[in-house]
Order: sequence, then C-alpha cells, then structure tokens
Amino acid sequence: MKIDPCSFAGSAQRSPIMASNNLQPEVISANWLKSLEVASSTGDTTSFVNHFLSDGWFRDMLCFSWNFRTLSGREKIHGFFSEVVDGQSRLGYSNLHDFKLDDPNINAPSPFKFPGSPDIEGVQGTFTFSITKPAAYGRGFFRIAQDVDGNWKAFTLFTNMQDLVGHEESAVDQYGPHKNQKMTWDDYVDAKFRDTEADPTVLIVGGGQNGLMCAARLGKLGIRALVIEKNARVGDSWRQRYPNLTLHTPAHLCSILYSPYPTNFPKYIPKGKFANFLESYAINQELCIWLSSTVAPNPVYDSSSARWTVEVERENCKVILHPKHLVLATGYGRPRIPTLNGVDDFQGTLYHSDFHRDAEQFRGKRVVVVGAGNASGDICEDFVAHGAAEVTIVQRSATCHVSLAAAEKSFYDLTLSGKIPIEELDFRNNSMPIAFSLQLMKSGSIKYLKMLDKELHDDLRKAGFSLTWEYSPGSGEVGLLGFLLERTGSGTMLDVGYGKLIVEGRVKVKQGQDISHFDEEGIAFKDGSKLSADVIVLATGNEPIMNTIGALLGDTIAEQLPPVVMGLDAEGEFNQVYRPSGHPGLWIAVGSFAIARSYTKHLGLQILAQELGIA
Ligand SMILES: Cc1cc2nc3c(=O)[nH]c(=O)nc-3n(C[C@H](O)[C@H](O)[C@H](O)COP(=O)(O)OP(=O)(O)OC[C@H]3O[C@@H](n4cnc5c(N)ncnc54)[C@H](O)[C@@H]3O)c2cc1C
Repeated sequence: MKIDPCSFAGSAQRSPIMASNNLQPEVISANWLKSLEVASSTGDTTSFVNHFLSDGWFRDMLCFSWNFRTLSGREKIHGFFSEVVDGQSRLGYSNLHDFKLDDPNINAPSPFKFPGSPDIEGVQGTFTFSITKPAAYGRGFFRIAQDVDGNWKAFTLFTNMQDLVGHEESAVDQYGPHKNQKMTWDDYVDAKFRDTEADPTVLIVGGGQNGLMCAARLGKLGIRALVIEKNARVGDSWRQRYPNLTLHTPAHLCSILYSPYPTNFPKYIPKGKFANFLESYAINQELCIWLSSTVAPNPVYDSSSARWTVEVERENCKVILHPKHLVLATGYGRPRIPTLNGVDDFQGTLYHSDFHRDAEQFRGKRVVVVGAGNASGDICEDFVAHGAAEVTIVQRSATCHVSLAAAEKSFYDLTLSGKIPIEELDFRNNSMPIAFSLQLMKSGSIKYLKMLDKELHDDLRKAGFSLTWEYSPGSGEVGLLGFLLERTGSGTMLDVGYGKLIVEGRVKVKQGQDISHFDEEGIAFKDGSKLSADVIVLATGNEPIMNTIGALLGDTIAEQLPPVVMGLDAEGEFNQVYRPSGHPGLWIAVGSFAIARSYTKHLGLQILAQELGIA
C-alpha cells in the first residue's frame, strides 16, 4: 500500500461503506459543504459537529484561534467549537461563511481509495471561505466518507487561514516603485533597508533556510524584518558541513519559498550548490541581513512597551535594537557530546560529526564512528571512499532505516509529477492531521515500506545491524515518518549507500554494547570487549534545541517556555514551532523545508495580527 500525500487515505477505525459505482464527487462535495456552511453561519455547533464521522479529525491553523489545533472525535471537536469567545460559541464568533468549492476545472473534488481497502472510496476536495472575526480568508480541505447509515461525513477537515482582509500577501505591489518613477529600484531597496535597520519590527536570529524564508515571507506581508547571522556568508552553515554532503531529500521537496530551483539542478543538491543558492536567494529576495553578527545573551523583554532590548554585535560594534518580535531560527541544536570516561587518555583523533571535514587525511587509518544515523552514514561513506583501513560503527540500539530507493518509490516520486505546485502539495500535506498519520502508520501502513526494503534489511541484520520501526519496544511501528515528526529525525537512517557498505563488510558493526570508557587505544565496552582506533567520530546527534535557546535567552525566559521544542504535543502539533512559544514576542522557527515554506505564512499572519491589534 502506498501513502500518496496527494490523494489520501483513510481511517482504520471506522467501518466504511462501499461507495456506489456511480460516485459523483462534485455533487456529494457540494451537498456536504452547503450543509456545513449552514451549520457554520448559524453557529449551530451540534449540527456542525454532526458533519464529522464519530471518529473524525479536525485540524485548524489560525481560523478559530491564534494557534494550531488538532482534535479527534466528535466529542472533542464539539467541546472546542462550543467554547465561549467574547460571549458566543467559538463557531459563532469566527463565523465561517461564503464557502466555495475550488474551481472544478483546476481542482475538482475527487474520489480516493482507503489504503488497504481498495473497494472503499471516499471523496476529497478543497474549498475557500471567509471568516468574520478576525476578518480573513481561509481555505479548507475535506475528506468525506459514508457512515453506517450512508450519510457523507468528514473523517478529516482542515481549515487554514490564508490572508487577513486588506493585507493579502498577493496584493503587495509586484512592480515596485516603477509606476511613478520617483526613485530607482536600488534607491527604493536602500530606503527599505535603512528603515528596517533603524527600527526592525521583527529580529530574526539565524540566516539558514528557516530564518531566510521567515524574512522573505514577512517582507511580502509588509513587515520590517532584520536577520542576524553569525557567519560571514549566507549558506556557510551548509558550506561548513562535511564535504560529501548532498541533500537526502529531492530538490522539489527541498524548494525554497517563492523560488524554485533552476531546472538543470540535480535531483539531490550537493551542499555547496545549496549554500550558493541560499546566498543568491537572500540577494534576490532583497532580505535585510547583518552578517558576521550575533545577539548577546539575555535580551530583555519589556511587557509595558511590548518590545525587546537586544544587543547585537555587528562586526565588532555593539548595536542596541528594540524589535517587537524576536524569531529564533538558530537551527537544530549544538553537537551532543555524551559523557566520555577517560576520553583524554585516547591518543588518536576524536571529534563530533559536525566537525568532520577531511577524510583524506585519515587514509589508511582505523576509524570508529559512534552512532548509526544519517551523519554516521555519510561520514562512513566518506572514509571508505578515501581509503580508511577499517571503518566500524558503534550502534548502541536499533536504527529506523529506509533506503533512498524505497523512499523514492513510496513517497518522493509520487510528488514529482510537477502537476501539483509545491504550495498546493504543502497545503494538502498540512491538511492531514499529524496524529492521524501516525495512527495510520501504527495500524500497518508501513508494511509497504518494509516490503520494499526487505532484501536489504535481511542482509543488514545478517551483518549485525539492528533495525526498528518503533521508538521503544511495544510503542507501535511508526517508521521514518514517525521518527521525523516525533523525534526530529533522531535515530533514523535515510540510506544513500551506507547499507550496501555494511552488507559488503566494508563498514563493520559493533552492536548493542554500551561504552564503558575510552583508553589510549580506543573504546572499551561494558561487556569487556574493545575497539582500537586511530580516529573516533562521535555521530551522536545534537542537543535539544531548548539548550541553545536557553543559552541565548537566559534562564528567566527559558523557564517560562514549555521544556521541549519540536516533537509533538498531546494533539499532534509541533511543540512551540511557528506558533505561540509561551512568551510574548518570542517565536521559534525551526523545521524541515516543507514546514518553513508553509508555516512561515502562519508566523507572518500571527505577527501581522498582533501588529494590527487584532490578536
Ligand atoms: C548534515 C545535515 C544534513 C541534512 N540534510 C538534510 C536533507 O537532506 N534534507 C532535509 O530536509 N533536511 C536536512 N537536514 C536538516 C535541516 O534541513 C538542516 O539542518 C537545515 O540547515 C535547518 O535549517 P535551519 O535554518 O533551521 O538551521 P541552520 O541551517 O542550522 O541555520 C541556522 C543559522 O543560524 C545561525 N546562528 C545560530 N546561532 C546564532 C546566533 N546566536 N547569532 C546569529 N546567528 C546564529 C547559524 O550560523 C546558521 O546559519 C540536514 C541537517 C544536517 C545537520
């Protein structure tokens, strides 16, 4: 069974009815939507909620609250819409109305098949609507199916704020000041930069893909955003990574907001090329960036003025800024160095994988790589390619492994047709409640992936490499997707060649043993065994993002925030990311390309609404 994000998917818990042969998606969708609109515009919570299957899912991004919410089951959905906001039910307060199915010539409602049950069909479609409070436009995606009585009901409904009325992103003048020719484009950009530098509304710390996309989005919404980047050039965070790094996700899924890659780019972009693209992006999007600049620790927030006081060190000068919003886009966390008894005794070379640069200098040496995730894979390949005498990985527990071939077949290539623009793909992916996707995985959806890799996995096991599809024994098989969503990818291996090296014995595996201590020759394990090495690389991942944030903001502010960034909250939304962080004027921007591309819009809308005094 394939999980196709463009044409999804079904609930494992309901007992769906076989669709009739003459399924008419447009008629079914129009009727369901019309009835939903009546319930919404009359504020009839019970009727509205009755448009869901009893085990249906609802996901909202900013239409019904200034947050992201996922609710499952009619009871919870009813509870949410019944909450009192300004003396009315939440449903009545927001007053969604003016529902319109997307133009059928472009985006017609369509049938879809339930995974694993090809005889059962539902109907999915997209629609637009207006919201009264706040005055906004929205877009929705529904997946409906028949209940046991044959009535069409939603098992997923997604509502997404698109734009605030009067502040539509698309309304920003694309043609700049040339209409009246009073100033040149360069003068106009210079003036914009001067305004931003003098009084940024938003200060973005970090000029990686998240920070840059935030700045581009905010600029398009007319918000002054200044980026502070500690490196000397945009893209340096990628340039500084190991030399053989190539993105493991294909270019179309790694695309950057507003700016597709040139058509002659490779499917998997090498890091240097990507770094240069990011740099050109910053130039072409005319982003206001201070390079070689950092933020001094412990910025102060004054709640009476709702402004920060931030000291920025810019090329050895100190500048004090008072932005209203601070966006932390500082990446995935510092290198995690585990406690290593006796490490100073080791006579060879030891470093964290973040600092891997030049495998050639270790030609003919014995290398041990501690850890068995993505960085470990790339680095082992680099050592083998550069003639290391011996490469051994230390795999303490088990790894969630997927080959690139399987990822392409089950997901990447399904989205490659070019027929669906990336923004639309992001919208459809967001329309799937994350917790529901995980539930699907646990109910057997990963069988297909396992089947694709069966031969390789059998061989890996024979070579002593341990595999898993669940976070912990008995927690349910969630596969790569689950690890990415819940664990920020930690413990996973998207294999671009590493597996073959293990199977062929060119990378050896030391499995299942805890390290006892280091000695002058290498690593001693708790079972008494030893591994001798000239070089040890700690591919042990990164510290929690919160550690970096805590170091930057100081304990007083960090203690006000929920303890975890990323991972999922109880409803299945990402903790703190691109949504209220728990501290006024503070936002955290981290995540995949897809998250950055689409959630930057939500960040922009939240900030814009605060600036307009409506949030
Ligand atoms: C080795 C590696 C390979 C990866 N491969 C892929 C892949 O194939 N596909 C994929 O989707 N994802 C991949 N990722 C994950 C993710 O896409 C990247 O980590 C990406 O760089 C994250 O973007 P970011 O903007 O959040 O952080 P970063 O790119 O890390 O950018 C953060 C920026 O903030 C700056 N900064 C940090 N602190 C400060 C400060 N105090 N002051 C000023 N500036 C500061 C840094 O210099 C940096 O430029 C990979 C990650 C790594 C580490």
